[in-house]
Amino acid sequence: MNDDTRRPVALVTGSSRGLGRAMALRLAADGLDVAVHYVTSAAPTDEVVAEARALGVRAAAFQADVADEAACQGLVKAVTAEFGALDVLVNNAGITRDTLALRMKAADWDAVIATNLTGAFHLAKTALRGMLRSEWGRIVNVASVVGLMGNPGQANYVAAKAGLIGLTKSLAREYGGKGVTVNAVAPGFIESDMTAGLADDLKAAYLAQIPAGRFGRPEDVAAAVAYLASDDAAYVNGQTLVVDGGLVMH
Ligand code: NAP
Repeated sequence: MNDDTRRPVALVTGSSRGLGRAMALRLAADGLDVAVHYVTSAAPTDEVVAEARALGVRAAAFQADVADEAACQGLVKAVTAEFGALDVLVNNAGITRDTLALRMKAADWDAVIATNLTGAFHLAKTALRGMLRSEWGRIVNVASVVGLMGNPGQANYVAAKAGLIGLTKSLAREYGGKGVTVNAVAPGFIESDMTAGLADDLKAAYLAQIPAGRFGRPEDVAAAVAYLASDDAAYVNGQTLVVDGGLVMH
């Protein structure tokens, strides 16, 4: 970061639990101040805030529905007001509404696109202003391997994740000359609430295709996010870093 008199400030959306929680705590362990964000899980978020503070950084909880444009703008403003800056934005909040395309209701399509894709756009757009002013910024969008390979029963989710990869590349081209990098991570099958409910036969079929021989852990993805958020990744821009134990190779 350009200013070495203060710690970088990171906002990780959807960091009350799962992958986002691991990302917030990893960034805190790396010495960043962290804005921990949720939509409904207030108590778990407070626990993440306490754990981050115990690592010696500033941390605070923020509530916002990322499917709402005004709420996204308000979130960036609130984080900036609390910490004095917003240097790292991790667009991690996401939902699934899985079913075959022929059965998919318009509301399920819209909810997933609004939360997983449009929210990331609104947050990036709002956060970019401060990053461009300080001539340093990191945006990391949490996509998915299914955004690269497709997946039956997830047309809405896959479209949102593929869209995030495209958004990443466009923003990287627009602002890459101004000290801001925009990258994505594409997790494979990671153990979390989102995957806990999948049928055992489906889990076994995935596992058989993963050279690492295990499902991923939230910490595996958090390490990739921490790298992309760091000064070390200054010359990495517009990329999608796949974190899947070797499931997809390209
Ligand atoms: P998760 O355990 O279901 O957690 C989702 C997080 O998003 C929670 O913090 C939740 O907040 C927040 N959230 C949901 N809807 C929101 C909304 N409208 N506004 C604001 N926040 C909202 O999910 P996860 O498995 O950790 O996944 C995190 C990200 O990784 C997602 O983008 C997901 O698509 C991606 N991913 C996951 C996997 C995997 O295998 N798990 C694989 C590839 C990609 P509350 O707690 O308040 O509800």
